[in-house]
Amino acid sequence: MEERDKRRIGEQIEPGGRPKAPGRLELLQRFINTHNHDLPLEWDRIGTAPKAEAWLGQKRLIAAGDRITEADAARLRELREALRALVVANRRGLPEAGALEVIRGAAGAARLGVAIDARGRTALEPAGGGAPGAVATLLGILHEAQLSGDWARMKGCRQCEYAFYDRSKNRSAAWCAMSICGNRTKNRAYYQRRRGAGR
Ligand SMILES: [Zn+2]
Repeated sequence: MEERDKRRIGEQIEPGGRPKAPGRLELLQRFINTHNHDLPLEWDRIGTAPKAEAWLGQKRLIAAGDRITEADAARLRELREALRALVVANRRGLPEAGALEVIRGAAGAARLGVAIDARGRTALEPAGGGAPGAVATLLGILHEAQLSGDWARMKGCRQCEYAFYDRSKNRSAAWCAMSICGNRTKNRAYYQRRRGAGR
């Protein structure tokens, strides 16, 4: 894959051409995929306060004029990695206690209200703006996706921990894209076996 395309992963491009997660979960998926540890650190879309402010504004997670500080951006990155631990756990195992503590801390500070529209339909809405409002929106999506059952299909790639939506019938997908990460994992196992055999 060319560098120009790699920079678009998580936004315009999904590895393996997978469709994104359904409904509002797509926004949470994009948030987790604002960075990936396989990509250069400076590509992190919320790596600095100005970048985080631009990204959150573009996604309407904050209003025009809301400011994001470096401390806000650092907390958002911490929350992102904790949410990544949840999607990795959706593939296998339990999330680490540290990740749960980070998410509980964010939830403790998040204020959500129940909004009612003209038809009487309900929606979770953040009660504040700025970074706390963005966090509240993201946690509201997490809650909704757990109620709908969609969350269980949100997985962290076994190789690169990219958050992908598993539409397979038996929910057994382990890699963001077989052509990228599946083969890398297999090649690594192959070389390790060969090295072992040569001793
Ligand atoms: Zn991957």
